[in-house]
Amino acid sequence: MEIRSIRGMNDILPEASIQWKNIRQTMAEVLECYGFREILVPVLEETRLFKRGIGETTDIVEKEMYTFEDRSGQSLTLRPEATASIVRAYVQHHLYQSGKVEKFYFWGPMFRYERPQKGRFRQFYQIDVEAFGSNDPSLDVDIIASLYHFLDTLSVPNVTIEINSLGCPACRPAYQKALKDYFSAVRDNLCGDCKNRLVRNPLRILDCKVPSCHELVLKAPDIQNFLCDSCRNHYGTVRNTLERLSIPYRTNPRMVRGLDYYVQTAFEAVSENLGAQSAVAGGGRYDGLVQQLGGPDIPGIGYAMGMERLAMILEDMSQPLSWKCDLFIAALGEEARRFSIDLAAKLRGEGKICEFSYDNKGLKAQMKLANRLGARFALIVGEDELQKKQVVLRNMRTREQTTLPINNTLSEKLKSNLSI
Ligand code: ATP
Ligand code: MG
Repeated sequence: MEIRSIRGMNDILPEASIQWKNIRQTMAEVLECYGFREILVPVLEETRLFKRGIGETTDIVEKEMYTFEDRSGQSLTLRPEATASIVRAYVQHHLYQSGKVEKFYFWGPMFRYERPQKGRFRQFYQIDVEAFGSNDPSLDVDIIASLYHFLDTLSVPNVTIEINSLGCPACRPAYQKALKDYFSAVRDNLCGDCKNRLVRNPLRILDCKVPSCHELVLKAPDIQNFLCDSCRNHYGTVRNTLERLSIPYRTNPRMVRGLDYYVQTAFEAVSENLGAQSAVAGGGRYDGLVQQLGGPDIPGIGYAMGMERLAMILEDMSQPLSWKCDLFIAALGEEARRFSIDLAAKLRGEGKICEFSYDNKGLKAQMKLANRLGARFALIVGEDELQKKQVVLRNMRTREQTTLPINNTLSEKLKSNLSI
């Protein structure tokens, strides 16, 4: 019987992964300009890291984690996000002792037991960006600017960055109380989950995707009216600086993000092209998290971006990218095959994408293969040609042919032809 992949866990085939590679290259180029450096963390962590780091009342911890016991009976979880793991690494390796703001980026798979649908999977990939060591609004701006710069470099269409301030432990309780009062009065119209959230964490209701709850959310109290002076100033400076740098954004006073650890700045990049799963990226400031996970009281801020959603938007708008093959070597006869294997090794060693046929078919079949591989050039090495110490280079698009002598300048000549 055929064995298939697990529901919600996809293979990313080469046709699609070429787009992903482009995204990852742009990621490194853009983020490194801002001083972010790559960090890699394990796929598995102790379950308590996520419980403590993400928050017991979040959807992720309540119902989305892949948690199991390993052979020694320890409870482990496949990471549902990267922030908690990166904070753990930051604390574990005492990276805060460096005396500077530490900035990281990361790329890898995440696991959440959600209902698979368009833009929502059980294994999905995120790009993750985190910075530790400053509460200054200029770091918030750097983070948001890097997100904008990244999306802009990829020419992602129709995205808007939405921002909000979620207050801090000093001013949020009053807002939470106002929310509780407001939603208690309309409790009967809330969905089952939100009735629960009303007791445990009313802020979560703002995040509910059920349409009837969403209606109520639109008229809920506005957090702007509850911010303390320090949060209001911080938010004001973030917005002013974004404007000065011409980074387009929109404020959304009801965006709270799904995780417990955010304070002050929260933001999302949303796209009209994505339908219901409209968020491409989301993040915010998490000043208490490092301490909560056993480190010193050091502020942090970051965001995560969904690769599948990003690739989906790019796929809709762009020409499909295709893999390129610089040269296909068509060899006829044993001696020619030996010659082509050696020549391919040489050209590959010099950075050219080179292919040849793995079987002994005729010229027609080999030229067909050259087309299938998308080769720009084909080099025809026949028995006659070898005798005459020459090969024929064919431009596959124009069909123009040139004869080149076989001598020690051949690979140089080929390389200069291929780089045109
Ligand atoms: P959503 O509100 O869509 O559930 P979220 O708030 O749970 O998103 P985060 O935890 O902030 O998402 O993750 C950041 C990004 O990761 C999202 O904006 C999205 O692009 C992507 N993402 C999150 N969950 C999934 C999933 N199950 N499948 C694919 N991408 C996802
Ligand atoms: Mg979610």
